[in-house]
Amino acid sequence: MANHSINQVLLVAGTHGNELSGLYLQKLIRDGVYHADRSTFQVKNTVGNPLAVKKNTRFIDIDLNRAFSSADLESDANEKRLAAEFVKQHASNENQLIIDLHNTTCNMGATLILLSNDPYYTRMGAYVKQRMPEANILFEDRKSWQDQPYLCTTGEHG
Ligand SMILES: [Zn+2]
Repeated sequence: MANHSINQVLLVAGTHGNELSGLYLQKLIRDGVYHADRSTFQVKNTVGNPLAVKKNTRFIDIDLNRAFSSADLESDANEKRLAAEFVKQHASNENQLIIDLHNTTCNMGATLILLSNDPYYTRMGAYVKQRMPEANILFEDRKSWQDQPYLCTTGEHG
């Protein structure tokens, strides 16, 4: 990955419909309580799985955050349709960083999961650790970017 000139951040919440922290952050942004835009980038908000959010459930048919592997077979599951739509809308934006916000059921504290050990991400991890020493930085980079099944690997940066 050569060019990392990010000018847009796509903030995704509700990828798992029963995880509320990201949705709450989006509400704070909508209400003007928190200003997410910076001088070098603008933030766009979207909800990953609106129907699952409405039903307060993790997913309808299958886990949306495992539905993004290019190796997956076609399926008419609600989440495969959502994944295909998300890819169509967001995959080609080269200047965009996708951040997918989750909650967890284990008491692991604030954790940044990075899916590549490319210097861009090791620097991102170092920056977050410097600003927020209590944060955990987790590299989950055993698979290639293309083979990752996660929503935030849809585009070039996530
Ligand atoms: Zn989740």
